Amino acid sequence: MRITSLVILLTWLLLGAPVAADTAKPKPRTAHDCSDIALRVCSIDPSFDPSDPNHQTPTCQSPDQSTGADRNFIITTILNQTNGQLTKALCSVENIFIFQSSTLPSWGLYQDPTYHPPSTDPSSGNTYIGINDSDLNMTFSKKQIANSQQLSIDNTLLNFSESGLPTNVVPEVYGLLYTLSHEYGHILWHQAATTSRPCKDNIKGSWADDISTSQPRWTTYGYSFNKHSDNTIPDPHSITKGGQIYSIYSGGFATELAASNPEEDFVDSYSLGATTKSCGSSCMFDYTITLDNGNIKTILLNSDRGNNTLQGKLACAGNLQSFP
Ligand SMILES: [Zn+2]
Repeated sequence: MRITSLVILLTWLLLGAPVAADTAKPKPRTAHDCSDIALRVCSIDPSFDPSDPNHQTPTCQSPDQSTGADRNFIITTILNQTNGQLTKALCSVENIFIFQSSTLPSWGLYQDPTYHPPSTDPSSGNTYIGINDSDLNMTFSKKQIANSQQLSIDNTLLNFSESGLPTNVVPEVYGLLYTLSHEYGHILWHQAATTSRPCKDNIKGSWADDISTSQPRWTTYGYSFNKHSDNTIPDPHSITKGGQIYSIYSGGFATELAASNPEEDFVDSYSLGATTKSCGSSCMFDYTITLDNGNIKTILLNSDRGNNTLQGKLACAGNLQSFP
């Protein structure tokens, strides 16, 4: 084995290695346009685990196990419900996978050249999104309920509703768009160097510690890291009362999930912004919260709720999605 490797290495050196392995740069990514997107949406082996640091390059199953209806739903959602940089972004992903009968949440994956050197991994720098097929059948409100349940928030507190949605599409379009843009948001966060996280200037004020530290390589769903700069706003995993939920939604965070760590803070600002823009001004995504004194408050999720911090996060995320 060693000899074979040596021969290959010598041959390669004789042929003229273009650049030393340890200084090799990631290959430039060809920006996919949307014309070949139908070829890049497919099923994946549901046992593929992107959080495993030794994962193989994800690939389409052969034969493809996904249905034409599911693939078409993803493609039409991207092509018909987004525009500008967001369309480009979602079309630039190497593959959008669908996985079935799995408890793994949907995911976004960036083959970071730091861990996947271009000299040894042809997928270095690639991006992928995996969609749990249950996310193809969720309205935005149901997806928010599912997110809150993952954070172990009591079901009786989760009074999400929606109204005024466009009637020319099924309402599940907005649940799927939220999921697709959420997972792409994770890719954007991980593509950036620690010192240049997207919208960092809008995010950092919500967090007590430097947001470029304590960042895991893989961010497990809802994993809490860093602490809120306003310590009256609880970690979402510790929510037991409506008043705590209200403090998150009125305290500069897009969602409960956004309050779990700086990464989800950016990601849910990005995905809520995408969903809001696509759904339009007649859309109402409401969260009815009973405060500790019995008063009822309704949060309009697709709004900045008059909060300057959230306004800044949504504006920054929106700029990343607009035309350059
Ligand atoms: Zn997330």
